[in-house]
Amino acid sequence: MRPRGNRSSEALAIPPEILTGSLRSPSGWAKIFPEESLDSYRGGWIEIIAGGMFSGKSEELIRRLRRSVIARQRVQVFKPLIDDRYSTEDIVSRDDRRLKAHSVATSAELLARVEIGMQVVGIDEIQFFDAGVVDVCMQLADAGIRVIAAGLDQDYMRRPFGPMPALLAVAEDVSKMHAVCVRCRGAAHYSQRVSGGNAQVEVGDSAYEARCRACYELYKSAPAEEPAVQLTMPASA
Ligand code: ZN
Repeated sequence: MRPRGNRSSEALAIPPEILTGSLRSPSGWAKIFPEESLDSYRGGWIEIIAGGMFSGKSEELIRRLRRSVIARQRVQVFKPLIDDRYSTEDIVSRDDRRLKAHSVATSAELLARVEIGMQVVGIDEIQFFDAGVVDVCMQLADAGIRVIAAGLDQDYMRRPFGPMPALLAVAEDVSKMHAVCVRCRGAAHYSQRVSGGNAQVEVGDSAYEARCRACYELYKSAPAEEPAVQLTMPASA
């Protein structure tokens, strides 16, 4: 049986210039490299960098924000107060690159602290913010600001995390980052919990591993330790 793909690719009629990468916009940059258009976009815009733990979200956020700083755009960076893993004033990637950030408790405080004339607003660990952060991002983008936010798209139970589903829906641009699965070295999309309790937030990298769909296992916290304690007690006379 002939695959149907042949017919549909004919119907798409992809110009050969695109396939060879020679199609250029008037400014000289190829349209097929979206990042260049993101950097030169002058209106409001929401970009979400989503993925599991160890997928390089903060590195990617810092990389994009640095490009804006180098381009002499006015950049302000925020993170939720809850995330004090490494530093209360910087956002820090696991490869120790850092950028000055304001720690804010709520989305309303974030909005209030955006300074007049700002061109780019970066937000790290956006999954920890309240639901109002979606409206805040929309307001900033509507006001002409480029919003770049990084966050966990799912928790350790693979449930969509906090405001992330709505943010992914309203964003103009979404990047899904992947880590390397610690078991099979495939592309890992999940943050596998390997120790700790059943709270949605368990801070600390050592409680997690990056796992792919095939290697992901439903996490059950260790049972209460009372029987084990009794076993170690000396037998009564
Ligand atoms: Zn795997």
